[in-house]
Amino acid sequence: MALPLDPELTRPHDRPLDPTTGEPLDCTRCGACCRAGPGSQLVTAGDLRRWRENGRDDLARNTAPGHFGEVAFPTTPEGACVYLQIDEIQDRTLCSIYEDRADVCRAFAAGSWQCLELRRERRSDGRGRSPTR
Ligand code: SF4
Ligand code: SF4
Repeated sequence: MALPLDPELTRPHDRPLDPTTGEPLDCTRCGACCRAGPGSQLVTAGDLRRWRENGRDDLARNTAPGHFGEVAFPTTPEGACVYLQIDEIQDRTLCSIYEDRADVCRAFAAGSWQCLELRRERRSDGRGRSPTR
C-alpha cells in the first residue's frame, strides 16, 4: 500500500494531526507508506494502461512482483518505492512521479488507520520521533 505524498497538504491548518504524537500529518516529511517494503505498493491494470496511454511506458516496464500475486513498484534494498525521493538534509520526502502515481497511492488517505500504523512502525523501528528518519 502506498499513499500520495500530497504537496497540497502544505499549510498547517490543512493538516490533520497524528493522534499519538500530535505532529501534523505532513506527507512531505513522512513517506512511511512509500517505505512499507517490497511488494506493498501495488500497480493495477488501470495504472499500466494509463501509463502506456500517457507515454510512460518506462513506468509500465519497471515493475516487480507484488503481494497477492499482483504487480508492484520496485523497491530499494531498504524497502522504499524507487520513486520516493528522500532529501535527508531538507528532511523532505517527495514522490518523483506524483502526477503519474498509482491508483493505490492516490487512494491512500493521510490519517487513515493504515497511515497511522505505518507511522507508528517507523517510530518503533528506532528511526526517530519523526517518520522521516
Ligand atoms: S504514512 Fe500517512 S502521513 Fe506518512 S506519507 Fe503516508 S499518508 Fe502521508
Ligand atoms: S509512486 Fe510515489 S506515492 Fe506511490 S509509493 Fe511510490 S513514491 Fe509513494
